[in-house]
Amino acid sequence: MDLALSEAELELRDQVRRWLGERLPRSPHPEGPEERFHDLLAWQRELFDGGWAGLSWPRAFGGGGADPVQQLIVSEELASAGAPEPANVVGIDVMGPVIMQVGTPEQQARYLPAILSGEEVWCQGFSEPDAGSDLAALRTRAVPFDGGFRVSGQKVWTSWAQFSRWCALLARTDPEVPKHQGISLLIIDMKSPGIDVRPLIQMTGDPEFSEVFLDNVFVPRENLLGDLDRGWQIATTTLMYERGPYIARRQGYLRTVAERLMPMLREANESLRQEAARALTDVEALRFHTYRRTSELQASGGPPGAETSIDKLFAGQTEQRLFDVAFELLGHEIASGSDAVARDWAYHFLYSRSATIYGGTAEIQRTVISERLLGLPRGSP
Ligand SMILES: Cc1cc2nc3c(=O)[nH]c(=O)nc-3n(C[C@H](O)[C@H](O)[C@H](O)COP(=O)(O)OP(=O)(O)OC[C@H]3O[C@@H](n4cnc5c(N)ncnc54)[C@H](O)[C@@H]3O)c2cc1C
Repeated sequence: MDLALSEAELELRDQVRRWLGERLPRSPHPEGPEERFHDLLAWQRELFDGGWAGLSWPRAFGGGGADPVQQLIVSEELASAGAPEPANVVGIDVMGPVIMQVGTPEQQARYLPAILSGEEVWCQGFSEPDAGSDLAALRTRAVPFDGGFRVSGQKVWTSWAQFSRWCALLARTDPEVPKHQGISLLIIDMKSPGIDVRPLIQMTGDPEFSEVFLDNVFVPRENLLGDLDRGWQIATTTLMYERGPYIARRQGYLRTVAERLMPMLREANESLRQEAARALTDVEALRFHTYRRTSELQASGGPPGAETSIDKLFAGQTEQRLFDVAFELLGHEIASGSDAVARDWAYHFLYSRSATIYGGTAEIQRTVISERLLGLPRGSP
């Protein structure tokens, strides 16, 4: 692996730096969740207009046609400049690539352009109250009906459902077969009659995710994504897209957190300095792990695979270790929430607790690693 950037890559880095110097929003984000979300959508629009949204999407689908290394360069620059994440991450990182892979030409033409511009936000309706880690136990039913399906059931932890136009939803279309079969992936119009979205407040104070209730919701047949009853395979691919691009952005962000912590460590006691050294070493190791992963993706040209479970596990644990150090250092100020800086640390400390849950828990990543990558015998179901 050659870590030196080529002339063209250096030029790309300088180009995005110049653009960020001019366009990165300087004003603090608004306080309310709705205002904040719309602020992030405006930022996505800005990225889109600048040609930076969906940089690695093929040009045929409105993207920049960049390779994984170019995408990583830009992601790192955005992170180190402190740029916020775009609002439509589920659309850009996850559902867009899945639609490119399994969608019909009509679906690609209909959905992809509005994802990049942020005009239409997507959410992912996979988890249910009794089907999280054991996702295949899902019970939301889709019954054939007059040119489509009638869907009833409940989803939970659906991020950004309250702002979404479309939901990629897993439903059981054949209850008579083993649980991993008979599942289909449907594109649900969140404006359809019969949908009730109830936001849930997280411990950060944000209503990022929601319960979604579906009561006899009509979904036309053309909104079936991929083959009928083959949704499990697509869901697996979806989760790999969710875990893969995440690491490139997250490691850049964690480096900025590490840089902010570093000067504060001068005052820390010996045991905390040792804890910090371990966390900072992990941040650096994650960086080089990301470079290796990017170089593998560049060489293979293929979609991400089960190895994204390593990325997700490592990044989630590193994030928590880093914020544990921040909490030890700043616990008093964080708890007092006395000013905007303390509240910002508190928010990110609390959010870091979810890093080993979303996209599949740490335990589930370990199961994937042991069974699919190391070839260990499967555990009992
Ligand atoms: C911030 C956030 C955003 C999210 N956004 C979305 C979203 O947009 N869409 C969506 O569909 N879901 C979303 N989720 C849900 C997430 O995918 C689930 O929370 C996760 O898969 C775990 O499922 P669960 O909560 O039902 O926990 P459970 O599956 O009940 O797990 C509880 C505990 O048991 C452990 N466990 C369970 N089974 C096993 C096993 N076989 N072996 C070892 N340990 C096991 C788990 O690791 C965990 O520690 C989000 C979650 C969070 C925190």
